[in-house]
Amino acid sequence: NSWNTPQEQQHMSSDTTTAQAPDFLATVGGTARIGANRELKRAIESYWKGQTDRASLEAVAASLRGETARGLRDAGLDSIPVNTFSYYDQMLDTAIMLGALAPRFSAVDDELDRYFAAARGTAELTPLEMTKWFDTNYHYLVPELSTETAYSLNATKVLAELAEAANLGVDARPVIIGPITFLALAKSTDDSNPLDRIDDVLSVYDDLLATLAQAGAAWVQIDEPVLVTDIIADTAELSTTAEVAGSVYQRLSNNTERPAIFVNTYFGDPGADVLAALAATGVEAIGVDLVYGSADTVASVPGLSTKLLVAGVVNGRNIWRTDLDAALAALGTLLGSARAVAVSTSCSTLHVPYSLAPETDLDDNLRGWLAFAAEKFTEVSVLATALNGSRDAVADAFTASAAALATRSTDPRVHVAAVRERLAAVTDDQLTRGDSGARFAAQQERLGLPLLPTTTIGSYPQTSAIRNARAALRSGQIDDAEYTRRMKSEIDDVIALQEDLGLDVLVHGEPERNDMVQYFAEQLDGFFATQNGWVQSYGTRCVRPPILFGDVVRPTPMAVDWITYAQSTTTKPVKGMLTGPVTILAWSFVRDDQPEKDSANQIALAIRDETIDLQRAGIGIIQVDEPALRELLPLRDADKPAYLRWAVDAFRLSTAGVEDTTQIHTHLCYSEFGEVIGAIADLDADVTSIEAARSAMEVLDDLNAIGFANGVGPGVYDIHSPRVPSTEEITASLRAALQAVPAQRLWVNPDCGLKTRGNTEVAASLRNLVAAAKAVRPVA
Ligand code: GLN
Ligand code: ZN
Repeated sequence: NSWNTPQEQQHMSSDTTTAQAPDFLATVGGTARIGANRELKRAIESYWKGQTDRASLEAVAASLRGETARGLRDAGLDSIPVNTFSYYDQMLDTAIMLGALAPRFSAVDDELDRYFAAARGTAELTPLEMTKWFDTNYHYLVPELSTETAYSLNATKVLAELAEAANLGVDARPVIIGPITFLALAKSTDDSNPLDRIDDVLSVYDDLLATLAQAGAAWVQIDEPVLVTDIIADTAELSTTAEVAGSVYQRLSNNTERPAIFVNTYFGDPGADVLAALAATGVEAIGVDLVYGSADTVASVPGLSTKLLVAGVVNGRNIWRTDLDAALAALGTLLGSARAVAVSTSCSTLHVPYSLAPETDLDDNLRGWLAFAAEKFTEVSVLATALNGSRDAVADAFTASAAALATRSTDPRVHVAAVRERLAAVTDDQLTRGDSGARFAAQQERLGLPLLPTTTIGSYPQTSAIRNARAALRSGQIDDAEYTRRMKSEIDDVIALQEDLGLDVLVHGEPERNDMVQYFAEQLDGFFATQNGWVQSYGTRCVRPPILFGDVVRPTPMAVDWITYAQSTTTKPVKGMLTGPVTILAWSFVRDDQPEKDSANQIALAIRDETIDLQRAGIGIIQVDEPALRELLPLRDADKPAYLRWAVDAFRLSTAGVEDTTQIHTHLCYSEFGEVIGAIADLDADVTSIEAARSAMEVLDDLNAIGFANGVGPGVYDIHSPRVPSTEEITASLRAALQAVPAQRLWVNPDCGLKTRGNTEVAASLRNLVAAAKAVRPVA
């Protein structure tokens, strides 16, 4: 059949029962699928709206898969990942492959519509939950499993993608999520541990391996990123991660009919014990992330000497150009540790934009430092050529890489002496505000707020008028002055609405912000905003993370004008809205030439200057949002305390420059604090608003348990749904909250920003919120 090369057929002796596939030299762990110009997003969304039919959606999907496979082949890779396509998410695809889709969705007859029902819900069906994929900004759908789940193989998708690639004549390697990762990331609906069903699930993987072998797959890649975390150690009670990995892959490799197995680990270091356990099994290849993991770990595992080591030396999740000389040297040291070494990316390039080609605004220096997915494919190929003895053939690529990277360390934007000196001189004093009790008294005197003050989280609905104005400014249809006029008129409307509703602390509504991170990144030196650098966040949602490449300088105030304008139109206090340093960092591509902590502190200094300017302009309340505080938590438990220390310090550096009379708020987008609970108290914000609509009491109890004594605004209704909460409902939440928190500390607010909602439902909901606060408010 067409994907067996002559060399391969020669290697496959007719009587072998287990796999004998030729080693590959160059590959990637996986690729993006949304399309270089988000073609898949558009095709899916128009299918959802009923504007196009299933056949045209499938045609777009097939053409994107073909483009990707041909692109990888043409870049010089000799093993091409397939089954990395998805209409929504690879964990959902895996649940379907294993026959483990939550039973409620069987109510939907059509297969594709059932798939989308699981992803997005329908009028009757709640969708699967969504959560972060490890420490990336991709979000997966969480499979729901129970002791009743009847696992069975559905190989339709993987077989179709394999056959499609065979037709293109590329050497295709199906990629599937491994059983350990699938079970460890799933959620149980009946308190059973999904991992207890591992034997049943492995039977399905056994079937899958046989099916893939029959279909002619020489290799299969099985992804086990969970092996670089402590998740198994924390949940599997009796076994270590290494034991689980060893027994699962021993069983799978014992299959008599199967492709060669490549177990891929990524996003960190699996550790020597896990690598040794995998090496002791019959799998043929093991993948390691050498950007976020370590070559020393590999060198310390003698058992790898019988394996193909797939070395992830090209960063799959950040946008920096690879230092080819350094990477080649690292690959060279690995040669002694393995039977053979293949070059790869550290993980799937799902997490980086497609190509630098459309970025016409890049200056030559900056362009030279970057590699998006297409450029990374070439880097992999060049390194494989050099590693296999033909460095001369690719000498130009090495010269170009070295020349480009040399400008990085000398570019004046990368090292700004004034920023570095200022940061070096920061003292603990600058991270510490006055006593919180004294602050409370000073702020009360200044602001004179009632008990249970009412407020919102910042944004109001981003109407089409707002989006049109932004587009018109970008296309040159209107000038800055006209844009400013339109934004001010939006602010006028939002202030008028809030006064009419009777809210106590107003906001300007954030009409000028397309995105809470990009808005600030665009105004700070050291950041670059791409034109087309889209990456999938979830489903059809994409984001364009800014690139932090240099030292951070705030040339001018960023939000002061809008907020002071809003304050000038009302006698009520207007709360100024800023994004915190940890969140700006978490939602950007960050520099790799200094610790994240230093980058966070540089951003913190810029935010600090902004808070001081706001204070000087007479603003008495400033909110610094940190919805991503929990998102940057490292994958390993041992690394968490150090992260939380610097994250908290960066927030404090941003906010401790103001007087006691200035009230600092923060906002967090989750209600289960877990490991970050102590850190939230350490932020020492005067008021913390949190998502709590689903479990208000737990949040408050958690905070009480650690002695949290500052103001708190547990969200009293869920803004993620258009439903208008009744006054009675909000009143009941507030009465319940008052059981846990004294009235002096309780704030009343929705649980997140309102930008995705409509004007009518927002006004109705907030009217009920104000009425509820008045009904509950004790007479002072
Ligand atoms: N201030 C932001 C807003 O209201 C907060 C957004 C967020 O919580 N992610 O939109
Ligand atoms: Zn939020």
